[in-house]
Amino acid sequence: MSKNILVLPGDGIGQEIVAEAVKLLACLRDDFGLDIDMDEALIGGTAYDATGTPLPDATLDLARESDAILLGAVGGTKWESLDISVRPERGLLGLRKELGLFANLRPAILYPQLADASTLKPEVVSGLDIMIVRELTGGIYFGQPRGVRELDSGEKEGFNTLVYRESEVDRIVRVAMDIAMKRGKRVCSVDKANVLECTEMWREVAVRVGNDFPDVELSHMYVDNAAMQLVRAPKQFDVMVTTNMFGDILSDCAAMLTGSIGMLPSASLDENGRGMYEPIHGSAPDIAGQGVANPLATILSVAMMLRYSLGQSEMADRIESAVMKTLDEGFRTPDIYSEGMNKVGTEEIGDAVVAALRAN
Ligand code: NAD
Repeated sequence: MSKNILVLPGDGIGQEIVAEAVKLLACLRDDFGLDIDMDEALIGGTAYDATGTPLPDATLDLARESDAILLGAVGGTKWESLDISVRPERGLLGLRKELGLFANLRPAILYPQLADASTLKPEVVSGLDIMIVRELTGGIYFGQPRGVRELDSGEKEGFNTLVYRESEVDRIVRVAMDIAMKRGKRVCSVDKANVLECTEMWREVAVRVGNDFPDVELSHMYVDNAAMQLVRAPKQFDVMVTTNMFGDILSDCAAMLTGSIGMLPSASLDENGRGMYEPIHGSAPDIAGQGVANPLATILSVAMMLRYSLGQSEMADRIESAVMKTLDEGFRTPDIYSEGMNKVGTEEIGDAVVAALRAN
């Protein structure tokens, strides 16, 4: 049966990079027999401009009916002064929450062709392949109560709440364990159990879930140490699992080990494996409309979609090989350009990946 893919280009470079990923999906459909239908809808600032809300009901309805979602990025300077309730980012948070996309998978892989792009020494990062599993729909970003109140003294006090239920921890640790079983069979659970009761409980649940996976080696690390270890000796990690906020910070740190924000895909999954797939970067207003954005993170997000939501691992492998071939052939967008390479724009590198896919 044909699978429904909802395409949400969003704002800024989202429009440009998603166009390249759609070109690739169309090639898989037309030349390789991938049985898909694609719909497109509005999200973020472009949705706000057209409908007055960053997450229109029509988009949410299509999202609920889809098997997988491909997202570009949302946000931009144009919408920064809007009330927080209708800012583009709110549309994305709302979509994740509404669809129950609780598991955020962020691989940080160093492509050998781009080893020079990392700010760390090559011997520290070469061969790097970490999977960060971040809890995405709970924790301090959603906990109540939250706000800013005025004290009797007239001073303001801001407050947010870190809250997790055992079931929320259980399901995210299980996702990490399942992924580790298909990789290096090691999971590091990151918490701050020495200071925060909530994450003390997180650790207890992680241990309990770990008992169901005797083949996986489970370790624990405080978040401050994990941040240090990520830049000191990142190759010690296989899979890391952590809370929403810790994962937000650590995964950006891990991404930068690879030196190239334009190369890293992500997946956000619900309990049934339905997912939203997007590059980890934002809408890059500074380069939007110039045709120079790197679409490879979005194209690699399509590979994750094929693997995790559409059961097409072989096609996912093909995409990843096509990206490798494109890099081997020297094609580089400006963000990953180095001396002697072939500097190209968004469309040209997208075309090169499609050509590499056809040639393989
Ligand atoms: P950003 O990721 O958009 O950009 C950071 C830097 O990386 C910029 O210099 C940009 O030019 C560069 N960059 C990003 N993606 C690139 C690509 N594919 N190719 C080449 N260069 C690339 O982060 P920011 O500037 O902090 O945020 C811009 C907007 O994006 C903000 O409105 C922010 O809220 C939003 N944002 C959205 C998401 C999302 O949609 N998931 C994530 C992060 C930020």
